[in-house]
Amino acid sequence: MLVLDDVTVRYGARAAVDGIALDVADREIVSVLGPSGSGKSTLLRAVAGLQPVAGGRVLLGGRDLAGVPAHRRGVGLMFQDQQLFPHRDVAGNVSFGLRMHGASRAAARERVAELLSLVGLPGAQRRAVGALSGGEQQRVALARALAPSPHLLMLDEPLGQLDRSLRERLVVELRQLFGRLGTTVLAVTHDQGEAFALSDRVVVMREGRVAQTGTPVEVWERPADEFVARFLGFANVVRGTVRGSAAETPWGRVGVADSGVSGEHALLVRPAGVRVRPAGTGLDCAVVGRTFRGDHVLLTLRPVRGPELESSVALRGAPEAGARVGVEFDPSEVVVLGG
Ligand code: ADP
Repeated sequence: MLVLDDVTVRYGARAAVDGIALDVADREIVSVLGPSGSGKSTLLRAVAGLQPVAGGRVLLGGRDLAGVPAHRRGVGLMFQDQQLFPHRDVAGNVSFGLRMHGASRAAARERVAELLSLVGLPGAQRRAVGALSGGEQQRVALARALAPSPHLLMLDEPLGQLDRSLRERLVVELRQLFGRLGTTVLAVTHDQGEAFALSDRVVVMREGRVAQTGTPVEVWERPADEFVARFLGFANVVRGTVRGSAAETPWGRVGVADSGVSGEHALLVRPAGVRVRPAGTGLDCAVVGRTFRGDHVLLTLRPVRGPELESSVALRGAPEAGARVGVEFDPSEVVVLGG
């Protein structure tokens, strides 16, 4: 459906997007994820035709988009910097693109009603956009982007402005809606939770390049390298020397599930794999932090050797800050990273 072939975008001499290759299949939802400044928005703008491409090709449905202006690309955009028109009512906002594309007044009216039902705002045609909540405005923006039935829908931080609970609810709704409509989606977000909940596949970017591509489960279970692991929020990453089913690390010897690799590598120990034991067993640690996370407690542990460790433990019986504990590592929660 969408093919990016070695796409480069420059601002002056600097490549903000540096030779990206990416395929998005028909009806697939792909999220581009990465820290601020990694080139996500620039990539999206290049596909939309809002930013010239310095090298490579962008193909949509087999058609090379070089020289095709943004409004003729058949892509729907929901970008942060594209506010709703404050002086138009909801219907006026949603029908804007339809009327531009030459739909009759009656056809536009019917389509607007259909779209508003779809996004959960039936009958909102005459409401003033200024009187809508943030979540409702987001739904109107979505209806506006979907109105011309785009081949590809592109979302830039679609839920960025909303509070957490609303975001978590909307992201589930969006995924269901796109599935029902069969919409192909390319989204950009810095929020991994949002990307994982929304997408069939995620692309992690770093400094204009692809650091990793995979399903949310693949990326979560096997981060490609230290950068991706840290970006996903994993703190227990150290370098170690792997030999067979163990690695020498600053924390001492850590068992690893047989990875088939040896030599020096970055290692990730998931917090669930840092098992808290009575003091005197395994690696001696002090509990220096204790954060309530709803269904578990995240402990920050200061070991007698090596960097601090995060351990996730059950609520019941979690040690208090200041306590001394022992730590054993669960090899099934240790990942040998690339790079
Ligand atoms: P992201 O969306 O991941 O935050 P951007 O695509 O906005 O990243 O930016 C990528 C890089 O390009 C950043 O270093 C940013 O400073 C730079 N950049 C973005 N827009 C412009 C611009 N209009 N002119 C010059 N540099 C830009």
